[in-house]
Amino acid sequence: TKSSQPIGRFAPSPTGELHLGSLTTALASFCHIKSLGGQWLLRIEDTDTERCDRQFTEQILMDLEVLGLHWDGDVIYQSERIDIYNEYLSSSLRPLTYGCQCSRKYLEQYWAQEEINRHHNNANLTQPCNQTQPNRQRYPRRCVASGLDRQQHKLRIQLPDYKIGFHDGIQGLQWDNPQQTLGDMVARRQDGMINYILAASIDDGLQQVTHIMRGLDILPMTTAQISIMQAAQLPTIDHWYHLPLINNADGQKLSKQNLAQPIDTSDPSRLITHGLELLQQPKVDIDTPANMLKQAIAQWDNTPLRGKQQLNSPY
Ligand code: GLU
Repeated sequence: TKSSQPIGRFAPSPTGELHLGSLTTALASFCHIKSLGGQWLLRIEDTDTERCDRQFTEQILMDLEVLGLHWDGDVIYQSERIDIYNEYLSSSLRPLTYGCQCSRKYLEQYWAQEEINRHHNNANLTQPCNQTQPNRQRYPRRCVASGLDRQQHKLRIQLPDYKIGFHDGIQGLQWDNPQQTLGDMVARRQDGMINYILAASIDDGLQQVTHIMRGLDILPMTTAQISIMQAAQLPTIDHWYHLPLINNADGQKLSKQNLAQPIDTSDPSRLITHGLELLQQPKVDIDTPANMLKQAIAQWDNTPLRGKQQLNSPY
């Protein structure tokens, strides 16, 4: 059973420090859920031990505190919850999963051959140039019925091959077929690492999250998340919001991959001003972070963000 209180969350992966993109996600999800009188949970998504670092986690927690973005309850660390994810994989999700021994090398050769076949078959056909390309690097399901040992191999999860729709409070009505987009994705690697959207789905369910506000970069995973949560018999998410991505002054998407600058929290009030301005919110008076956030919560409005996929940052 679900409480009637709205529950939101911020779920950073500590593969780097917060940058302007992740800061705006934190700021928006915080102000939005607080404007609904809800709770804001903090979950550290550190299942990828190769890329995550304890130091980044510490820095993220400190930055959030300096900015006055106080989370409710205890911080949850996914690295401490691996047993829970494995429990789901061997119970309610078990019928959807299977062991797979296909190597990366095998798959690359397979996809290359497919590309050649397609080229031969289509040589005489004119292709409409505006056609959206389906993802052509989906797993061909070679191991789906081979009954391989689940512990010895990576585990794949069968995603449904039909369109799933949901309403997004920022992006509008969304439809996607997770099998066409993601195929049978790897749920657990051979070394035991759990797929991040699988872990997020289980935790969002167990934490009884009602409102998910996150970056548009995760939108392609959302129908997979919906289907995993259903299969795991977890409470579903009532409200989805995918925030536009932030481009830097050169028009490049801000991300750790292109080395977005970490935020400088020496002047937290200035950062909050910049963040709210980027999120197209009404101005707030310069004050302590806590007072500025109070004002931002009272004025919070998603409508200026509606339909937007990108926001350009002058900073
Ligand atoms: N951990 C993901 C990230 O930092 C966010 C996942 C989510 O919000 O669902 O990009």
